[in-house]
Amino acid sequence: MIPAPVDYVRPETMSAAFSALSDDDAKILAGGHSLVPLMKLRFARPSVLVDVSRVVPRGIEATARDGVWIGGFTTWRDVAAATELTGPYSAARACAAAIGDLQVRNRGTIGGGLCHADPAADMPAAALALDATLTVASPIGERLEHFDGFVGSAFEPNLDTQDVLTGVRLPAQPARARSAYQSVEDAASGYPIAGAAALVVVADSEIVQCRLGITGVSTRAFRPLATEISVLGWGSRSDWRDLCSRVRSACDGVAVMADRSADVTYRAAMAQLVTARAVRQAFLDATAAEAA
Ligand SMILES: Cc1cc2nc3c(=O)[nH]c(=O)nc-3n(C[C@H](O)[C@H](O)[C@H](O)COP(=O)(O)OP(=O)(O)OC[C@H]3O[C@@H](n4cnc5c(N)ncnc54)[C@H](O)[C@@H]3O)c2cc1C
Repeated sequence: MIPAPVDYVRPETMSAAFSALSDDDAKILAGGHSLVPLMKLRFARPSVLVDVSRVVPRGIEATARDGVWIGGFTTWRDVAAATELTGPYSAARACAAAIGDLQVRNRGTIGGGLCHADPAADMPAAALALDATLTVASPIGERLEHFDGFVGSAFEPNLDTQDVLTGVRLPAQPARARSAYQSVEDAASGYPIAGAAALVVVADSEIVQCRLGITGVSTRAFRPLATEISVLGWGSRSDWRDLCSRVRSACDGVAVMADRSADVTYRAAMAQLVTARAVRQAFLDATAAEAA
């Protein structure tokens, strides 16, 4: 449980960070809550850790036109407490609140979490449902990456060695849209066996728009497109049983994982359950907002 010897640098500028990252075996260090355990197990053996705490922004800003921007070095604790992440953006806050314990949320960052690309992480569900875009800095300039498409497979984000995630943008949503996150967690690790985020828009007491993200179920989080369509029209005149039948397609076309926490059948059933719960919670919040 002792990591191999490693150098450590804390650059003051982004160009110094790029130059430290030009070593192929260098690794970015953010909160260290995923990377350091891997180093202790010797699954990761970087030559140098490049601490990006002084070059990647921390903080959250909201504007009516552009939605919410979250700096890549913003901790889970800050995300979970953000007043900017209410209403349409509540799913992001709920995902952050579901992560680990207070110590993990105090150190772990949204940039580190999304770049780690753990298939069991919570935040990818909200990143998909809320249509997140990532800002990635590199020596040749800055680029935008849609989160939907950012992760190829488990632990494989679309990043080169010198790429640094600097921010996450959640685009503006209709004022009365509401979102929610629900998960069923593994009792030992706290990671989701299945987690689902839902963003819904309601009109005349029915869901008229829906965007979903499901995590913990396959090698990467995904949008269940058929389910997004099948929940349209569900609302106050329908019941829970009807919603459960509309979310049966949640894992269609997806290779559901089996591990020590859950076999394929149980995990797929939990994915349907949390999807229904997230849709219902977002619907109830949207209905309350419509009535207000
Ligand atoms: C006990 C425990 C329980 C946990 N429970 C949960 C849980 O329930 N749900 C959950 O989702 N997560 C959980 N986690 C993981 C936690 O959320 C981590 O903090 C997070 O996954 C990684 O964030 P970090 O800032 O610590 O990143 P680090 O560990 O520092 O880095 C992770 C990876 O991302 C890269 N990286 C970091 N920042 C950047 C950047 N700005 N640009 C490019 N690459 C970058 C690093 O090089 C590394 O490969 C848990 C962790 C622990 C230790």
